Amino acid sequence: MYEKIKFEAQKNSATLVVVSKTRSVEEIMKIYDRGHRDFGENRVQELMDKKNELPQDIKWHLIGHLQTNKVKYIAPFIELIHSIDRKKLWKELHKEALKADRTIDGLLQIKIAEEDSKYGFSQEDVIRLLDQSAVSTYDKVNIRGLMGMATFTDDTSQIQREFDELAKLFNQLKSAYFSEKDDFDTLSMGMSGDYNIALERGSTMLRVGSAIFEEG
Ligand SMILES: *Cc1c(COP(=O)(O)O)cnc(C)c1O
Repeated sequence: MYEKIKFEAQKNSATLVVVSKTRSVEEIMKIYDRGHRDFGENRVQELMDKKNELPQDIKWHLIGHLQTNKVKYIAPFIELIHSIDRKKLWKELHKEALKADRTIDGLLQIKIAEEDSKYGFSQEDVIRLLDQSAVSTYDKVNIRGLMGMATFTDDTSQIQREFDELAKLFNQLKSAYFSEKDDFDTLSMGMSGDYNIALERGSTMLRVGSAIFEEG
């Protein structure tokens, strides 16, 4: 499945992040050896352990809920944080980026799913923060776009609606707050069960795990 999903992503000019959480170093190396470099983890400890054992040219993405006290471990090297889901985390990322003397790329996670369990800003909250100039206040965090997770359901039209909502917000924020910024270009949406729908709805970055590792 790796080659197929990679092909689908490339056809749509989207980046594929292979989600390697819970997978062994050996399993990850099989994908690495096919030339893949972007991998995503949702827990900092697991990411740090794997980073130590795997080649140093891997680009690590943090895709899960991130505790502020863990930011310092990943600030020096993380490729992209997909899950900026609250002001406190945004602020902490700015602080640790200053210490690490670099800029950290990040995505604002928006709650689009019906399920209560999913993290993320509401549309109102994110607009309020942008109106309060969060982008310039926390300027060591380079906001590259948005991330969202659709409801886990068989109802294709619901998934489409949720992805459309996220894509619409992305375009609105881009013209209202990021029009001068060419690198506000990332819409991270689509997982194993819904990556095809996500690509149809304008995703530029997929996060796929089980479809790749469970079928080789
Ligand atoms: C686990 C996870 C994924 C990948 O899920 P699969 O269904 O295994 O493809 C994508 N995004 C986030 C935030 C995840 O936690």
